[in-house]
Amino acid sequence: MRSAAPALEIKNLRKTYARPAVDDLSLRIERGVFYALLGPNGAGKTTTLRMVAGLLQPDAGEISICGIDVRRAAVEAKSVMAWVPDEPMIYDKLDPMEYLEFVAGLWAMDAKRAEVQARALIQILGLEPHANTRCQGLSKGMRQKVALAGALIHDPELIILDEPLTGLDAASARQVKEVLRQRVANGTTVIMTTHILEVAERMAERIGVIAHGRLIAEGTLSELSAQAGHAGTNLEEIFLSLTGTGTATASTSAAA
Ligand code: ATP
Repeated sequence: MRSAAPALEIKNLRKTYARPAVDDLSLRIERGVFYALLGPNGAGKTTTLRMVAGLLQPDAGEISICGIDVRRAAVEAKSVMAWVPDEPMIYDKLDPMEYLEFVAGLWAMDAKRAEVQARALIQILGLEPHANTRCQGLSKGMRQKVALAGALIHDPELIILDEPLTGLDAASARQVKEVLRQRVANGTTVIMTTHILEVAERMAERIGVIAHGRLIAEGTLSELSAQAGHAGTNLEEIFLSLTGTGTATASTSAAA
């Protein structure tokens, strides 16, 4: 039954370039969870999420979003999810309000509802002073927030974000975190990759750790700690232990 299905289920996913980027990865994420996907650079996080978003064809494996098979019903699967890449594209000639109306039109949203949603997103993301400025005149951080608003306008059941906080100042990062927290509180599922381990530790209810294209650990912080042989008390220590990466090379908060 669709409503009982997990937000995301991945089974035996594979993608190989010169070598395996995603290597027999299986993962199940329940609904209404704030989930962080972590891993060293090149671990296969973006490749995995691009396949989930339907932007990349897997070599093998199955993906379903809220019970919808991504291969068999690609459009239906896309309609219940949002994908926010690390370098999002928006239409520069439009201002944020026009952009949101345009995206809402693509989803065939009711115009009144779209306007209410757009105004709420613009307000919570601190974009009000720029609502009528063409996007080409906005800073990278502001454009990131416009892209996020565009991804959320149709109220997706699953939101997937690749490094959403990189390049944002403290106030913007707080606004984005607040939007995501609100969505989770309302039952939406959020999956995000991040190298900022403090954010993952503070915000995520569950964490998956990927290394060499494989899921090497998964669970709550205390479950991860147990999987790491109680190697540390904070996520950074646990992450370094699980991935076997030293402090000089690891993707930790220092890289953020
Ligand atoms: P990061 O934290 O640095 O963003 P990641 O975990 O998202 O890394 P991916 O971008 O998924 O890692 O890359 C996984 C592996 O696949 C890497 O070895 C990368 O070089 C390789 N890879 C990714 N995309 C391509 C591509 N288009 N062509 C060839 N190799 C690729």
